[in-house]
Amino acid sequence: MSHQARKRFGQNFLHDATAIERILQAISVQPDQTIVEIGPGQGALTLPLLHAGGRVEAVELDRDLIEPLIGKAAAAGTLVVHQADALKFDFARLAGAGKLRIVGNLPYNISTPLLFHLLQQSDYIQDMHFMLQKEVVQRMAAQPGGGDYGRLSVMIQYHCRVAPLFTIGPESFRPAPKVDSAFVRLTPWQQAPVQVDDYASLDALVKQAFAQRRKTLRNTLKGLLDENDIRACGIDPGRRPQELSLDQYASLSNRLALPP
Ligand code: SAM
Repeated sequence: MSHQARKRFGQNFLHDATAIERILQAISVQPDQTIVEIGPGQGALTLPLLHAGGRVEAVELDRDLIEPLIGKAAAAGTLVVHQADALKFDFARLAGAGKLRIVGNLPYNISTPLLFHLLQQSDYIQDMHFMLQKEVVQRMAAQPGGGDYGRLSVMIQYHCRVAPLFTIGPESFRPAPKVDSAFVRLTPWQQAPVQVDDYASLDALVKQAFAQRRKTLRNTLKGLLDENDIRACGIDPGRRPQELSLDQYASLSNRLALPP
């Protein structure tokens, strides 16, 4: 029986062979390598990954999809499916001796919280390849100054090198989403690109800074840092949150982390 795509699970299944081939080339799975796939769905990526010789550990929330997928994959290779919510899943426990390679055509309705969840586990991750809404990839890769630059840009770029690879139109999916999609590679840095003394301080500061992005730093950072603190980092308190680089956010957070 054919599966009725569920909107609440962000189900837009890939069916475009050319797009799937480009994705496989970008991932470049090696024989016997384990790939962790988020949301395997009906196996559009899972089966080619298995055929390429990979082992796949998949995390799928919709239990109705799992049995048919296991059936289809049986002849193709080793697939383990965890019926779970990827937002709560402990990916680190899948990392054995080596780091994880994670892939997914992600459910767009939860992509931002899912990315933040994965960033918390980035020490265990070798790389991530994701299909996302095009605007989300633009925000991830954005540089200071533009309207796309925000909390997601700063926090992703602190953890990972962001490489947008290509865009894919709605017609490559069934049902077709209302938005364009983009495929992106995220590679966690071996060593952080800036010195951050206390990660929780960076996280709190960036969150508060962008909560009211039209205000100046002197207003938006109230309660965390005062004007003198901001100036002590060499930053004009009259500037706005989207004008600051990752390096400048790191300096401000290190000031916040200082004991009183
Ligand atoms: N990989 C398939 C493809 O490319 O055709 C399906 C992609 S579809 C955009 C997203 C998939 O993620 C669906 O299979 C959906 O059931 C699953 N999903 C949705 N929310 C999830 C969650 N919180 N945790 C794990 N999987 C989820």
